[in-house]
Amino acid sequence: MRPALFLDRDGIINEDLGYVHRVEDFRFLPGIFDLCATAQALGLALVIVTNQAGIGRGYYTEADFHALTGWMLERFAERGIRFTAVEFCPDHPVHGIGPYRRENRRRKPGPGMILDACAAHGLDPACSLILGDRATDMQAGEAAGLARLILLPASEAEIAASPTRTEVVRTGGLAAVAKALRQGQG
Ligand SMILES: [Mg+2]
Repeated sequence: MRPALFLDRDGIINEDLGYVHRVEDFRFLPGIFDLCATAQALGLALVIVTNQAGIGRGYYTEADFHALTGWMLERFAERGIRFTAVEFCPDHPVHGIGPYRRENRRRKPGPGMILDACAAHGLDPACSLILGDRATDMQAGEAAGLARLILLPASEAEIAASPTRTEVVRTGGLAAVAKALRQGQG
């Protein structure tokens, strides 16, 4: 079984502008390519875990999401970076429309997306990490039993609501996370 780096999307890979679903609104955050290349070189599988309730709310479709994801993965592939999986959850328990209105263990803070990816791809949660900008990312990682929870906090409130063992990266952004990864594996 392999270790993995689970990555939130909005606020980690791209700027969180709210329900991003078009290429023209997708702005890669500084340091993301280097971070992913570092993780890959350390032998970590790369997996994106992203709540996409904008689909359930009717703001955009699953096809829109897959088109944007395909474009995003090409930008990584150009740099030799390959993702093992992209897990998304379109549902919302309150605001989802029709079949999208439901509780789903895959929706963060539930651990479902992480655990499903582990089962499908032979990944070991106990050796894996999650990187996110929200407490719900950390809570999902905690519930999945991941080894490390790394928070690039979107706000102070996210720190307060995260599990106590969360590693908070307050300065240096994604470059600091890359450094922490190298140290953690060293
Ligand atoms: Mg986020």
